Amino acid sequence: MHYFDNAATTKPYAEALHTFNKVNEDYYFNTASIHKAGRDSAKLLEASRKQVLEIFGLPHYQCVFTSGATESNNIALQGTLRRKKRFGRTILVSELEHPSVINILDHQQKEGFNVKFIRTTEAGRVDVDHLKSLLDEDVILVTVMAVNNIVGSVQPVEEIKSALTDYPKAHFHVDATQAVGKARFNYEGVDSVSISAHKFHGVKGAGALMLKEIKAAEPIHYGGGHEFDIRSGTVNLPSVTAMAKALRLSVENMGDDIERISEYNRMIREEMEAHGSITIQPSGVPHIINMAFNGAKGEVVVNALSGKNVMVSTTSACASKRAMSNETLTAMGVDKEVIDGSIRISMSGNTTRRDIEVLIRSLKEVYEEIGDVLK
Ligand code: PMP
Repeated sequence: MHYFDNAATTKPYAEALHTFNKVNEDYYFNTASIHKAGRDSAKLLEASRKQVLEIFGLPHYQCVFTSGATESNNIALQGTLRRKKRFGRTILVSELEHPSVINILDHQQKEGFNVKFIRTTEAGRVDVDHLKSLLDEDVILVTVMAVNNIVGSVQPVEEIKSALTDYPKAHFHVDATQAVGKARFNYEGVDSVSISAHKFHGVKGAGALMLKEIKAAEPIHYGGGHEFDIRSGTVNLPSVTAMAKALRLSVENMGDDIERISEYNRMIREEMEAHGSITIQPSGVPHIINMAFNGAKGEVVVNALSGKNVMVSTTSACASKRAMSNETLTAMGVDKEVIDGSIRISMSGNTTRRDIEVLIRSLKEVYEEIGDVLK
């Protein structure tokens, strides 16, 4: 099988699985238990927390372990709005965000918040000038992802941080789910950052929310008060320690991975750009290529490739079951026909040259097979 859906999820590193199994066997205790076994498990938890924060260059931040980025985004957004609602009602959000951000804010709008969308450039980046024009004293939350999950565009986190220096009331949240191991950012100064372990070769069911100040967010559900009272529920220590391991490895491997994947990206673009009815979106990180077979349906291309043992996705796994046009591509001003024909090819450090050769050959075969519908 040739796997090109790494933006949906990645294969866990063998080392991460080893850690997961070992911790399940030797440290299956509750980190909140006060007996020695519990305390030893808690030590392991704290070591993972320290490691995650250090890798992100945020040693003085707090790290709350969660079940993944959806939960981290919910805590970051709903939790800060609960704290900040006394100070203002306006939220600025990029049009590029994942449903785990957009759908929270849709709900918050119904609760009386004023949600304003920051425009997108044709390159799939947040328009910082537009963001600046939307800033005023009523803004309490700004949320922009680091790397987009549909086209891979890299967002101007640094410029947004500078734009916000005169607006200390505004909490700046960054969904960094697709950035880990793909692009370097300086998160220092960002108020909260979300990640999800399974996007960087960890196991599913673990994520983190890093917060500049723990008091920035109120809990959105209640229980035994674990994780600084922000995220109650017995901590998933095996998955969290495996995440810390995967994070270290993916950051260590990043330089080599990017070099190799950039070469693969060039190969795919060069081979496919020559075909008249193909549109390839501008990208940022080399791992993600969004390509349309103009006139065809993305699902048809995905299924045809799947029949050849090549796994790609339409736009994103989270949106692909919904019969709606992709928000990111719409925001970039892409024609509906191109959006409908889009597929997402997403690579990881596991992708091999052989995978790329099979992918290119299969893309060309599908192009020939559905040639009569192409425009
Ligand atoms: N944000 C982004 C940018 C994502 O790509 C995803 C996963 N598709 C999420 C958030 C949600 O992550 P999870 O499903 O692990 O909660």
